[in-house]
Amino acid sequence: MVTKTATQSLVRLQDVNKSYLQPNGQTISILDSINLELSEGEIVALLGPSGSGKSTLMRMIAGLIFPSGGQIYYRNHPLKGLNPGVAIIFQTFALYPWLTVLENVELGLKAKGQALEFRREKALRMIDVIGLDGFEGAYPKELSGGMRQRVGFARALAVEPELLCMDEPFSALDVLTAENLRTELLDLWLEKRIPTKSVLIVTHSIEEAVTLADRIIVLGRNPGRIRADFKVEIPHYRDRKSAEFEAFVDRIYRIITHPDQDDIQQLISDQKSTTREPVKYQSLPSVRIGAIAGFVEILENRQGDLYRLAQELLLELDDIFPIIEAAKMMQLVNLQEGDIYLTEIGKKFIEGSIDQRKQLIRQQILENIRLVKQIHASLTANPKQRVSKDFFLELIQSHFSQDEADRQLNTAIDWGRYAELYGYDEPSGEIFLESQEEQFNVS
Ligand code: ADP
Ligand code: MG
Repeated sequence: MVTKTATQSLVRLQDVNKSYLQPNGQTISILDSINLELSEGEIVALLGPSGSGKSTLMRMIAGLIFPSGGQIYYRNHPLKGLNPGVAIIFQTFALYPWLTVLENVELGLKAKGQALEFRREKALRMIDVIGLDGFEGAYPKELSGGMRQRVGFARALAVEPELLCMDEPFSALDVLTAENLRTELLDLWLEKRIPTKSVLIVTHSIEEAVTLADRIIVLGRNPGRIRADFKVEIPHYRDRKSAEFEAFVDRIYRIITHPDQDDIQQLISDQKSTTREPVKYQSLPSVRIGAIAGFVEILENRQGDLYRLAQELLLELDDIFPIIEAAKMMQLVNLQEGDIYLTEIGKKFIEGSIDQRKQLIRQQILENIRLVKQIHASLTANPKQRVSKDFFLELIQSHFSQDEADRQLNTAIDWGRYAELYGYDEPSGEIFLESQEEQFNVS
């Protein structure tokens, strides 16, 4: 068993935020008030649902993009331009198809202006370390996906970065390959066979985070903020079946499914939150009603521990989290201490006929979903009972990026359609109110 202790500050983010100017002139906040310090000797996992700004945060740390506000420090010096101490590994590595494995690995060193002989020696050593021995002369197209990703690892590690950044490095690989590479990377780190001082890994897999990380930072969405930051003090290598491992997994589930930002702050520290909460527009998870219904049905016999359920169903955080969020918005499920339960409404839903289900969802979304409420109210108020989709897009465009606004509206349309509140007429691009007749005349 090996443990490492954190010492010196590598990277520090102070009040960092990132926003983008939309084509319509509105600014969208992606990350807000990020305060964070990465120190030597730790593997830090950055965990969060898709769209929470994980990649954006990592790119800022690498100096590939710049904060809109706040300051990033590398070894206590303000970061201006590329971070000299960082190498990044992406989900799928862009290898040059016309270069051999060796040449691809050397590329990073070339960028650092190192002499040929020196480059070759380092590249060969890293190729060896990363298990590509014998493949030096191969071309990327001759390699499997797993081997190609290894080349990416070798290329990043060859430059001997102080901070190795990885953005979902295993998620494009098959399960077994991912597991092997993950373990090998941990070996290299624990046995100090790589000079890397610290590792930052972006992931949406809770299990991956708890397997690898000494510290886990959980990001929330809209805008991305740090919801939790804590240490995982379980010695490596970790037993995923152990009680302490599961306790961490449960804790993370609890955090990401927790509805209230303020409550979370208190859950993490007793310090009372004094930051002002900006008025936020409710953000709908992009989930179809069919998925919500399917999930709620599965719950009938499997209420309880969310982690077990996710494992059983082979679902990852990004699959299951939006569904839970949607089901929760509709008050079909409830979450408590990492456990999930059907509410009375949820039970009624399961028992109901198709009509009863539709009616129930209609009631729930009209009560709880702001965008649905707005659409319904506008349609009712309109003499033609038809309103163009663009009208609603404009309505929410100050709160979301263009793509996200599109997704939000499509979700609201999907939900409202299912509930037979309104329909969408594709050719005219208009949303129209379902007539009473149609509403109660479903066969
Ligand atoms: P994650 O990696 O957690 O999935 P990202 O950092 O990729 O999240 O993106 C966070 C949000 O920022 C997303 O809503 C995305 O659409 C938005 N975003 C990212 N890059 C840009 C950009 N260049 N312009 C506008 N919006 C962006
Ligand atoms: Mg990402």
